[in-house]
Amino acid sequence: NFFLKLKLWARVLVTGASTGIGEQMAYHYARFGAQIVITARREKVLEQVAEKCMSLGAQKALYISADMGTDSDPAKAVDFALEKLGGLDYLVLNHIGPSPFTMWKGDVEHVKWLMKVNFFSYVQMAWKAMDSLEQSKGSLVVVSSLLGKMTSPFVAPYTSTKFALNGFFGALYHELAMKKSNVSLSICTLGLIDTDSAMEKVRGVTDLPAYPATDAALKIIITGATRQQELFYPWFTQIANLIKDWFPFVTNYAIQNSYNTSRT
Ligand code: NDP
Repeated sequence: NFFLKLKLWARVLVTGASTGIGEQMAYHYARFGAQIVITARREKVLEQVAEKCMSLGAQKALYISADMGTDSDPAKAVDFALEKLGGLDYLVLNHIGPSPFTMWKGDVEHVKWLMKVNFFSYVQMAWKAMDSLEQSKGSLVVVSSLLGKMTSPFVAPYTSTKFALNGFFGALYHELAMKKSNVSLSICTLGLIDTDSAMEKVRGVTDLPAYPATDAALKIIITGATRQQELFYPWFTQIANLIKDWFPFVTNYAIQNSYNTSRT
């Protein structure tokens, strides 16, 4: 069972673990007694999260500050984890750069930068960790969004990066299966989760229910540990995904009329 497996040997790298869902994943892995490396940009915050991980039962909790918008830091973070943990069983790619919740006003540079942080760094890190994951029969977990499967206003740069992730890692999933690779790949489709950054964006703009980050974090970990191809959390994200192709007019009407646009 996956709890036992996690407890005994899991060597884990979680990105974007200074706050939000990533931070909650670090705490869950810690409770399972895993050896964890966490990464994000803010070193001081990472230090505090790592300390809490140790108090919750992690065998090891190390951190490395890395800016995923640079060319070199994504690989540096993976190298650090491989060296300190002697390999990886789980690579959980979760970080995102900040992006405004607003109509797109032509900032092409922001789209390029966000692509680098939210997409290219995932590709780099996955590739860098692949040999080690192959050896350990490990798992690659990509945190995506319903906005990687259906479009919505006010998030054009963000939704682009999530569609890119679903495209790239969807292709990679087939290739790993065709090569009979030892590595499992899970793509997690999340709806609105109550992290500070998400709540700050949608406050006063939508009444959509937000689901707890700690629960989302646990579901992501279980999805990786049980080597499932996909997670839909909360459950209705799967229904929304099905409906959008069969009844686009219903979906479009609902999307375009579910926002209070005075703040955007
Ligand atoms: P948060 O905004 O709470 O956390 C983002 C994390 O990424 C932080 O740890 C931040 O730390 C780090 N980060 C930001 N910029 C960089 C950078 N340039 N380089 C390295 N790290 C960076 O995100 P959430 O917890 O809300 O989201 C986590 C995942 O879940 C994301 O993939 C998101 O797309 C997905 N998701 C979330 C939803 C939600 O409603 N919350 C809905 C659907 C999907 P620091 O600032 O220290 O670098």
